[in-house]
Parts: sequence; C-alpha cells; structure tokens
Amino acid sequence: MTQKVAIVTGGTRGIGAAIAQAFQEADYTVAATYYGNDNAAKKFSEETGIPTYKFDVSDYGACEKSLAQIQAQIGAVDVLVNNAGITRDGFLHKTTPSQWSEVIRTNLDSVFNMSRLVIDGMRARCFGRIISISSINGLAGQMGQTNYAAAKAAIIGFSKALAQETAAKGITVNVIAPGYIDTEMVRAVSPEILTKITDKIPVKRLGKAEEIAAMAVFLASNQAAFTTGATFSVNGGQYMS
Ligand code: NDP
Repeated sequence: MTQKVAIVTGGTRGIGAAIAQAFQEADYTVAATYYGNDNAAKKFSEETGIPTYKFDVSDYGACEKSLAQIQAQIGAVDVLVNNAGITRDGFLHKTTPSQWSEVIRTNLDSVFNMSRLVIDGMRARCFGRIISISSINGLAGQMGQTNYAAAKAAIIGFSKALAQETAAKGITVNVIAPGYIDTEMVRAVSPEILTKITDKIPVKRLGKAEEIAAMAVFLASNQAAFTTGATFSVNGGQYMS
C-alpha cells in the first residue's frame, strides 16, 4: 500500500515538529513547512529526514507555488495540518492595525489558503483529512489576545462549515484546541505568569507537544472517519467547554 502524504505547516518547531514526527512514525510521507527560522528547519530536517519547505502561509500565491512543488516531489496531500501560528499580544487599546492583521493573516488566512489549495484534490480522490490547530484561548478568550482569540475562534467556524461541505466526499475537518503546551511560544512568557498558568491547570503541568500530535494522528486515521466538524480540547482540564 502506498504511504499517505501529510503536510504540517509550521512543522519544524514546537507542536508542529512533534506532529510531523508522529506522522512519520505512523508511516506517512511527511513535509514540514516554516517561514523564518532556517536554523531550526535545517536542524529538524537533519534529525528527522523530513523535508522542509520555506514559505509564508499567509500569502496565497506563495502557498500555491510551494504546494505545487511539494506535491510534485512527495505526492498529493492526503492530510493537511494547519498548525503555523503566531502571537502579537497586547490589550486592544494598544494593539496596532498591523499586529491585528499579522495575527489574522498568519493564523486564519493561512487556514483558508492551504485548505483551499488541497480541497480540489481531496474531493477528486474522495479522501482527505484537514486538521487545524486552534487554542484554548479561542474557546475561553484571553485578555491581551483579541487578535489571537478571534483568529483561533474563527478556525472553529470555518472547520464546521467545511466539514458539512465535504462530509459526503470522505473528507473530515476537525480542530484541536491545545491548552498551554511546553514550547518556545509558551516559554517566552515570564516565569511568574507561567507559574500562575500552571496553578490553574488541574493536571498541574504544561502539556507536551507529543500529546497534541497523538490527537492529530488519530484524527487522520481511518478509525476517525466518523469524526468531523469537531473541536478537541487537549488542555489538562483547564477549560471544559
Ligand atoms: P512555535 O512558535 O514554536 O512554532 C510556530 C511555527 O509556525 C514555526 O515553525 C514557524 O516557522 C511557523 N510559522 C510562523 N509564522 C509563519 C508563516 N507566516 N508562514 C509559515 N510558517 C510560519 O509555535 P507552537 O508550536 O507553540 O504553536 C503551534 C500552533 O499551536 C500555533 O498555531 C499556536 O497558536 C498553537 N497553540 C500553541 C499553544 C502553546 O501552548 N504552545 C497553545 C495553543 C495553541 P519559523 O520556525 O520559521 O518561525
């Protein structure tokens, strides 16, 4: 049987890297994308053998060009994991239009761009898995993150709508909403705030990137064929919606 092809955006660091590796371990052919950090991508590729591709997921034209290259090299995409994301935190009264649009474009437009570009192929082959990474803060809100919470909440609406459009075509569309996971994004928070965060998590620790990756691999599997339009919280019990 030929291997299925999975592409993970922002797949060279943090949660995305764990997802890319979990798919590799599950016997998928994997491509990981990134945008700025060449060193991290080089290190990741050397360690895992997973090819990396550099482009801006917020730019439709760049996604189109790179996806064509990726699919020519490793095959048609069966599984898309929309993981790339950024934060530009600040209370709304201090948020600039560019901080707003950077977050919306990178976290939300990217989901449209990548999904739009793989959907025709998935429909034609009557199989596909689209998994997007939202956040606990898209469900619960978080002060200082109007831009990020808006983008992460919108991913859920997008996925429910697309799930309805594609269910009869063998394509599932689901969302994972991680809580606080031990990655560079979270380590950038001050130690005092991090302690306050951990105190509020019932399991009393940060999550591991591998715990998000395991959910992604399940959602891509044949066993998850009846699971679509759903949002899965992986947050140590911090927010039960
Ligand atoms: P990291 O900051 O560790 O990694 C982000 C990845 O996204 C990197 O590979 C980065 O590439 C890539 N990326 C950023 N901007 C772009 C862009 N414009 N085009 C292409 N790739 C881009 O993030 P995390 O692993 O912490 O987070 C991964 C996802 O999980 C994000 O969507 C985040 O919002 C979400 N999440 C994270 C949580 C956490 O606790 N860490 C909690 C809840 C949700 P490069 O290396 O080149 O910069």
